[in-house]
Amino acid sequence: MTAESPAWLMQGAPHVWRPYCQMKTARPPLPVVATQGARLVLADGRELVDGLASWWTACHGYNHPHIANAIRDQLDRLPHVMFGGLAHEPAYRLARRLAELLPGDLNHAFFAESGSVSVEIAMKMALQFHINQRRIGRTRFLSFRGGYHGDTLATMTVCDPEEGMHSLFAGVLPSQVIADLPVDAASEAALDALLAERGGQIAAIMVEPLVQGAGGMLFHGPEVLRTLRRLADQHGVLLIFDEIFTGFGRTGRLFAMQAAGVEPDIVTLSKALTGGTLPLSVAVASTRVFEAFWSDEAGAALMHGPTYMGNALACAAANASLDLFEDGTWRAEVARVSAALSAGLEPCRSAPGVIDVRVLGAIGVVEFAAPVAVGALCEAFAAEGAWIRPMGKVVYLTPAFTTPDADLAILTAAIRKVIGAGGVEGSGGV
Ligand SMILES: *Cc1c(COP(=O)(O)O)cnc(C)c1O
Repeated sequence: MTAESPAWLMQGAPHVWRPYCQMKTARPPLPVVATQGARLVLADGRELVDGLASWWTACHGYNHPHIANAIRDQLDRLPHVMFGGLAHEPAYRLARRLAELLPGDLNHAFFAESGSVSVEIAMKMALQFHINQRRIGRTRFLSFRGGYHGDTLATMTVCDPEEGMHSLFAGVLPSQVIADLPVDAASEAALDALLAERGGQIAAIMVEPLVQGAGGMLFHGPEVLRTLRRLADQHGVLLIFDEIFTGFGRTGRLFAMQAAGVEPDIVTLSKALTGGTLPLSVAVASTRVFEAFWSDEAGAALMHGPTYMGNALACAAANASLDLFEDGTWRAEVARVSAALSAGLEPCRSAPGVIDVRVLGAIGVVEFAAPVAVGALCEAFAAEGAWIRPMGKVVYLTPAFTTPDADLAILTAAIRKVIGAGGVEGSGGV
């Protein structure tokens, strides 16, 4: 922190525990005092173009008036009531709209506050789906290397074993079945064999469709999802798509699963659900899953109910965000962002240490052979007017769909310059 750091930052810093951070050695966080459109306004008056849309949430840009007004109206009328035994319009309307937007019969929405909790709920639904039908022994999940599904204890077990800290917490976490994605004939045969052997122990297969996000922005083709649907059906296992990152336009389709034309039994959504304003998540189940809980037996019910379930302010924000998707202009915006990322990042292929450059929808990725120095890079990008925070071996952009061309140019120029691409002056040292 410097002499110009705001007083609130210096006074609060000893008391705030920061995410994913060795606080002893990390640089201080950048103090943000306002947001507008695609930009963060810092305490010293500088503006940074946000290359990440705040962990993939603010898809329409910051402070969108339509979402802000919806939240304000809801705040005056009914900010929150408990969801047990009570109902309110924003949540019921949102559930109906999600059922309409999602393909197939993904029609039954269970609300929560965070992505991880919705994944936990999807896992609980899958376990009890089998229990309620007296299919015993299906107590495990099958998930994939490179996957990320959250930071809570149960979701950690289905993350990539190395990234997910499985070894640190060995003995605490139940071990799941971790496989390679079936991307070719050999890996498909291996997965089929694994399911033939252990399928009877598995409640559900869990996957992020098309893009494994936090695990390194790894892309796979839609045929992988069709293979998973077929194998899940053959082995009597449920299929869960975690669209917390990919949902709401990020890959160029409203939901990534639409590229494959297959539906899961349960889908989880969060991140861009409220357009980056309030925390909200949802696990949406198919009719087949829902019907396994529909019974005269009280014990067959799903025993879950977060305190802030279906928070009315968050649901009002989500409804307003869906309004913005309704006119379809986001498709052209994502295509525009996609083209700018492709053109702007292509020269990075020749930069030192770079092994791949890839773009899908509004996701642009520069992958290095080895993990990069996150703190130093963040600082260098900020000096170029960009907020970009790399992850592991990747420097990536997931900007708001509404980011103006000039701001997209600032983002890609910052990456090119800092990593030393395309003959632009720069050290290339990461
Ligand atoms: C971010 C993310 C989660 C976890 O969501 P939180 O809101 O951080 O708990 C789960 N799955 C995927 C695919 C994510 O990208």
